[in-house]
Amino acid sequence: MSDSRMGRRDWMKLGGLGGAAAMLASCSQQKKTPGAAGEVNGIIFMVADGMSHGVLTMAENFSKIVHQRETRWWQLIADSSAVRGLMETSSANSFVTDSAAASSAWGGGSKVNNRSINVRPDGTEAEPILRFLKQRGRRTGLVTTATITHATPAGFGAVSEKRDDEHLIAPQYAGVVDILLGGGRRFFDPGKRIDSRDARSVFIKNGYEYIEDRETLLKSKSRKVLGLFSDGHLPFEVDRLNDAALGQTTPSLSEMSEFALNDFLYGNEKFLLQIEGGRVDHGAHSNDAAGLLWDQLAFDDALAKVLEMIDGRDDILVVVTSDHGNANPGLNGTGKEYGNSNDAFKGITRMTSSYERMLGEWNQAKEVSPEFLTDLVQRKLAFKLKPEEAAALFASLTEKPFIEWSNQLHNAHGLLGQFAGNHTGIGWTGTSHTSDPTMISAIGPQAERFSGIVPNHEVHRHFVELLG
Ligand SMILES: [Zn+2]
Repeated sequence: MSDSRMGRRDWMKLGGLGGAAAMLASCSQQKKTPGAAGEVNGIIFMVADGMSHGVLTMAENFSKIVHQRETRWWQLIADSSAVRGLMETSSANSFVTDSAAASSAWGGGSKVNNRSINVRPDGTEAEPILRFLKQRGRRTGLVTTATITHATPAGFGAVSEKRDDEHLIAPQYAGVVDILLGGGRRFFDPGKRIDSRDARSVFIKNGYEYIEDRETLLKSKSRKVLGLFSDGHLPFEVDRLNDAALGQTTPSLSEMSEFALNDFLYGNEKFLLQIEGGRVDHGAHSNDAAGLLWDQLAFDDALAKVLEMIDGRDDILVVVTSDHGNANPGLNGTGKEYGNSNDAFKGITRMTSSYERMLGEWNQAKEVSPEFLTDLVQRKLAFKLKPEEAAALFASLTEKPFIEWSNQLHNAHGLLGQFAGNHTGIGWTGTSHTSDPTMISAIGPQAERFSGIVPNHEVHRHFVELLG
């Protein structure tokens, strides 16, 4: 075990002050610079998509309430052997990036316009990092809770003028990415693709095992896998946790990450694995606190699993970050001397559905009314809408006019976020991405490359230098 891998558990293992004193003495002799130079055989690049700084803070408090423990990311920030930095996030055409431009900057090394995957503003193409690495015999992987063809994985493995052409992105991964786990069957299945072509067969011909359910994945020993567990994005974690059937059929982000790493960590080839908590971003767009925070905790579980699996290895670099902020939520002080804030925040634990799933029930209802809406919100989100709130929400969902105060929040999600915020204390600046830099934590050899302010397109150079 290198001293840079000495975690809390190792301290506990020593037992007693004598052991701790002996460890302290050995540390003082061997102490290295955090993330000192060393050979890198694998990089695990973890992205909590659309994670504003406030999400990290709220997830920390939420984890203490629901799991009675700190988040692993919080511990990593406090760990003196890890490096901290800020990711600069602008795209070629805006201070505010989307996920396509952000991931293209990381994966292709060029700033591109929003909505573009590795196509520069002048029309030339940037080579995605996983294509580059595959030509050099490296192992490559993409794991996400969004569709596997969504912008963040695509920026590492595909080129597309438009991010929404996911049916064109799908076949590009064949032979380029060894392990693909996430959602998005509708971009592979001939019965669901807009051109009726079978994109799965391209993979099967290339030696991939095609998997559609959790149980088969957990038993698989294949080294090339296309695992698609939903037609679209994987369900929000709050829905996976509150629906036994979904929990059975859909692997967690942690399980998918473990599957990929079980292969990569013990192989002889260098590797790059991207792991994305893709729905953190969707929870933020929807101003949905339960959707957002449970997905952030699922991402944190994946981080804990990754760090546990690389414990004792001094050749693996882990980088944890986000591509951009989104809606910048935060817990506001409420009540006398802010004495109501903790209880208000705990109200999120009583929410048993994402807005997405709840509004799915609304969409399927034969008859709807403000009263139906009030009952639905009470059952799923555990708070009572005021009559005027129910009326405004009803108008927004039935496309009738309602008073506009903020154009960012002038939609059903923005209204729900504000009404829920009257109970939870959580406020949101809008329903879209923000320009803020994002948090970076890095641990392992060469981690110091990710300290200070890192322009997003510089990440690509580090990948090339370390694994090329
Ligand atoms: Zn987004």
